[in-house]
Amino acid sequence: MKRKISIIGSTGSIGTQALEVIEKLGDKFEILALAAGSNIDKINEQIAKFHPKYVSVSKDADKVIGCDNVLSGSQGLEEICSNQENDIILMACSGKIGLKPTLTAIQNKINIALANKETLVMAGDIVMQKAKENGVAIIPVDSEHCAIHQCIKDISQVSKLIITASGGPFLHKTVEDMKNATVEQALAHPRWNMGPKITVDSATLMNKGLEIIEAHHLFDMDYDNIDVVIHPQSIVHSAIEYVDGSVIAQLGLPSMHIPIQYAICYPERYEGIKSKSFSFSEIARLDFEKPDYDKFKFLSLAYNAGKQGGSSTVVLNAADEEAVFAFLKGQIKLYDIYQITEDIYSKFDHVQNPSIDEIFEIDKEVRIKTNELISGRVACLNI
Ligand code: NDP
Ligand code: MG
Repeated sequence: MKRKISIIGSTGSIGTQALEVIEKLGDKFEILALAAGSNIDKINEQIAKFHPKYVSVSKDADKVIGCDNVLSGSQGLEEICSNQENDIILMACSGKIGLKPTLTAIQNKINIALANKETLVMAGDIVMQKAKENGVAIIPVDSEHCAIHQCIKDISQVSKLIITASGGPFLHKTVEDMKNATVEQALAHPRWNMGPKITVDSATLMNKGLEIIEAHHLFDMDYDNIDVVIHPQSIVHSAIEYVDGSVIAQLGLPSMHIPIQYAICYPERYEGIKSKSFSFSEIARLDFEKPDYDKFKFLSLAYNAGKQGGSSTVVLNAADEEAVFAFLKGQIKLYDIYQITEDIYSKFDHVQNPSIDEIFEIDKEVRIKTNELISGRVACLNI
């Protein structure tokens, strides 16, 4: 029987790759719904090819063609994520938009393939607790967590998670090089082709910071037992250590098609979009090194926020996201992203167990304050 799937964020990097996987898998999936932001041309192309029963966009719903059920805004996402026809929902939108639809899907007992990392960074305690209460499976799409998911047989016997990081475009560059980096240089990731926000986060290693927090929630692991190792080839996607010292790693060529396919097909596996067979001799060498915590300051900040828990990771996430947007608009420099985030992070009072409404309130306030700080800096530069 075909698995019915909805994709939230179908026009983005993960969303389009998911549709490539689904196309290759032929009759395994039926697209129930596609949701996107404002890229109407792309979603119209996707409608013509995949014939979803429902479509939702954040605006310009009147320009959507080829679908009889066009929804819009957050109400559209809510309708899609509460539709009991879904067998699985791929949460592939970027940013905080993913949180509410994820909670709706959980309340409706619909399994989730989760790419949107902000969901767990903002509200990991609540999301994982609700998933447990509702018997909902959250299968990670992020390649590191997908790797760990594939390695784990019994989490109670795992003593450590080892998350790999490619190191991004500035791995062997100086702090000075990073300070003067252009948007183009920050977006030139050596291994992965992703959306702009996550690509900038990969250049500062904030992405790895977010992944540490994601891993803590997904696998209920203490932060002291989550390590990060630099692995420039991105072949080992992450590893786990068992209490007896055995280490199990998941390897593969760096392609998001593989973890996307794993997550939406779980527990089945198919040949699907695999382009070629893995060969150790072709790879020849695998390098590993310790991260430079002085250069990539976000790593320590993320560990700190994660250990504090509560509102700390909400503040970290929102301040970074606004600062990344400002960098992408050319308003600030790459290293300012950290300085601005750290400045905002140190100013906000801690709330230990925020509710979802409080999380959104804190998120909003942080974004306002971050943008005030950015505007102040820009104004100073223009004097
Ligand atoms: P992109 O920026 O490429 O895509 C974001 C998607 O979200 C687009 O389809 C966009 O639509 C959609 N979107 C934006 N606003 C809304 C809205 N209001 N309602 C519905 N959809 C909306 O991001 P990525 O695909 O790179 O990343 C998506 C998520 O997955 C992020 O959380 C990222 O951290 C995570 N992730 C990504 C990886 C990757 O390889 N790209 C790897 C691991 C995790 P539109 O374009 O139409 O505006
Ligand atoms: Mg990742």
